[in-house]
Order: sequence, then structure tokens, then C-alpha cells
Amino acid sequence: MGLIVQKFGGSSVADAEGMKRVANRIVATKKAGHQVVVVVSAMGDTTDELIDLANQVSPLPNGRELDMLLTAGERISMALLAMAIANLGHEARSFTGSQAGIITTSAHGRARVIDVTPGRIQEALKEGAIAIVAGFQGVSQDTNDITTLGRGGSDTTAVALAAALEADVCEIYTDVDGIFSADPRVVPTARKLNTVTYEEMLELAASGAKVLHLRCVEYARRYDLPIHVRSSFSNKEGTWVVKDHPEGGKMEQAIIAGIAHDKSEAKITIVGVPDRTGVAARIFQAIADADINVDMIVQNVSAAATGLTDISFTLPKTEGANATSVLQRIQGEIGFQSIQYDDQIGKLSLIGAGMRSHPGVTATFFACLSEAGVNIEMISTSEIRISIVCRASDLEKGVRSAHTAFDLDADQVEAVVYGGTGR
Ligand code: ADP
Ligand code: ASP
Ligand code: MG
Repeated sequence: MGLIVQKFGGSSVADAEGMKRVANRIVATKKAGHQVVVVVSAMGDTTDELIDLANQVSPLPNGRELDMLLTAGERISMALLAMAIANLGHEARSFTGSQAGIITTSAHGRARVIDVTPGRIQEALKEGAIAIVAGFQGVSQDTNDITTLGRGGSDTTAVALAAALEADVCEIYTDVDGIFSADPRVVPTARKLNTVTYEEMLELAASGAKVLHLRCVEYARRYDLPIHVRSSFSNKEGTWVVKDHPEGGKMEQAIIAGIAHDKSEAKITIVGVPDRTGVAARIFQAIADADINVDMIVQNVSAAATGLTDISFTLPKTEGANATSVLQRIQGEIGFQSIQYDDQIGKLSLIGAGMRSHPGVTATFFACLSEAGVNIEMISTSEIRISIVCRASDLEKGVRSAHTAFDLDADQVEAVVYGGTGR
């Protein structure tokens, strides 16, 4: 007998039928003799719909109230799921994030878990019940207000609970059969990975592969907790996220584990920046003070005649307006010429620990993009990742051509998308 944490994403509980299907799955695990803690997301696209609604009543909804609104989505799911399980003759008790002891920072919309005190969950388990926890939410230690963990944050609730409860495994049920070599919605020939390391998954998640929330992977790595990503619509073995690839698998390990793409970023170019010591520091200090996360940065060589240069950087589209107004405020002080804002960019990243020992990855990558007619606008690398920025309209073409160029295409199509709208 073990303790299993199972997390079901929005597409798995999109409607009443989905709730009943998931309830059956949970009861089967319980009947197999395990203690079960379930983390559940809001139904289907509920979170997006609630955000749309908030934007209709206010262009800039207050963070506290927005979190209060969004957490309602997960509460609906947890209660319905508990009812569906009760209908199968098993006791289930639902808990909000706060009741489950998910203690966070006070940053609305992107709170971090700082402690987990799951006393009520342990009590429920001891009494033989199945515990259902609303994902994506917690309560601030400082303000006692309800917080959310950022989009996709239910994964993190599941892993944080699994770590605190010393669960044997954390299962993440979604609408595809596991983690693939690329998003199956974009690359139909994507290949399912048997294992992926924490290190690779961190880079994949940070590069836009939303199958797992970045924080959840950080958490799992810290506690060395295995995650099993699989489909709630099939019984297939999924992908294990673990510390190392198993010994046998290492030999045939591909150079590239996966390809991620991201359309959520925009690019700002600051034109005509005086090429003086301290200018870049001043610009990025102002951006940091506004709590804006910058991703890639490129500075051109300054033109000898003018001593002026251009600096471009990428950032989440959601921060675009904020960053532009911060820069406008320091324009006079720094003396740059203008700001260009471009939200029609896409980021394509190749990730693989095998890159360390294989030269020539960049050459193959750039050659295949050139053949596909994709123009590279920015480049950045880490030890196990190469990312480029291109036009958003070229992104999917670029992903598919890199997938083929690195021999990642599956011989037989195995990538099935069971549900979800990809929103
Ligand atoms: P859930 O609602 O279950 O949390 P998400 O939509 O957050 O599901 O994540 C699952 C989706 O992640 C898939 O439907 C797929 O489109 C996308 N995805 C992106 N990259 C990958 C990848 N490498 N492997 C599998 N899925 C991926
Ligand atoms: N419902 C939240 C979202 O859509 C959290 C999650 O699904 O993980 O982002
Ligand atoms: Mg998700």
C-alpha cells in the first residue's frame, strides 16, 4: 500500500462525463489498496473564461480580487469530483488550497509555495477518505489573502503536496499520453519519451512546453520526487520525470530530448542607445524595479559614426504595456531615440543533455531553419539548450523542420491529443 497523489488537469474534468470518468479512475486506485490524494484544476477553459469576464468589468483587475475569482474555478471542480466519487460509494472530502495548508507568498497571480501543512489531508486519509484538493491556490502567510500560483499552477500544488506527504509518486494526468519530443498539437509525428530528466524538463518548461508548470519541476527536483505524466483518457504508461535516464536508455539517448515553442513573449527594441558604461545597467534596473522578467537580451555593436547602439530584449506579452511605460519614463535621462514593440514573435528551443558532448547541433539547427525559410532574429544558449526568436507565423514550420532534422519523428504516429482546446 502506498500514498499516491493524482492531479487531473482541466481537460480531464471538462464536463460531467469527464468528472465521472476521473472519479472511476480514482476509485480504482483506492480499491487497489492505496491512499489517494487528488489535486484538481478548473473545468475546461474556465480559468480563461473567468479572466475574460474580469477584463470586461475592469481593464486592470485588482490582484486580490482576481485571485479570489479564479480560485472559484478549482473549487467548483473539487466539490463536483467529491460528489462523483461519493456516488461510487467511496468517501471523498474536498479542501481549498488554504484548508489543505498550501502557504504562499503574497504575490497575487504568481505566489510561491513557502510551506505545506497538510494536517487536514492526513486526517482525512487516516479516516479512510479520499482527499480532493483545489489546485493552483494557496493562502498568503503575510496577508491571509487567497493567492494563485500562476497559470498551470495545479501541477505545483500536486508536487508540493506529494513532497509534504512523502508520497510514493505524483501522477499528473493530462490530455496527451506523456511528454513528447515536441507539442503533439504542432508535431503529429512527435515521439513519446519514456523518461526525461529534471534538468531537461526544467528547460522544456521554461521554454514554453506547458505540459508541466516550471515550479512543479523545480519542486520535484529539490525533493527528488518522481513525476509520472500520463493521460487520463488512456491506460498507457506515460513519461517519468526523474533525476537520471536509466542506464540502458542512456546509450541510445538522443542528442535532443525535445523541442519547445513559445508564443507568449514579445520583443522590445530600444533604438539609438548611447554606448556608455552604465546605460544597460540603468535600463534593466528600471525593468527589474517594475518586477518584469526579461528573457533574451541582444545588444548590437554601436555604429562608429554615431556611438549609438540598439538593445533588444524579450519579455512576457502580459508585461508589454508596463515595460513600455517604464522605458518612456527614463527616455529623457538616458537619451535613447525610440522604443519599438513587437508582439508577433515566437521562440523555438532545442533541449537535450546530449548537446554537451555533441558539437554541430547549432549548425544543423540553423541549416534546417534556413531550408524552411525561417529567419532567425535572436539567439541564446545554455549548456543544454539553444533558443532562437523568429516571426510567430514561422514558428510551427520551424518546430516541424527541426523535429525532422534531428531525427525525432516517430516511425508510427503515436501522438494522440484526447481533449482540451490548446488555449
Ligand atoms: P492540463 O489542463 O492537463 O494541465 P495543459 O494544457 O496544461 O494540460 O498541458 C498539456 C498540453 O501541453 C498538451 O495538450 C500539449 O498541447 C502541450 N504540450 C506542449 N509541449 C508538450 C510536450 N513536449 N509534450 C506533451 N505535451 C506538450
Ligand atoms: N486552472 C489554472 C489554469 O488554467 C491552473 C491549472 O490548470 O493548472 O492556469
Ligand atoms: Mg497544465
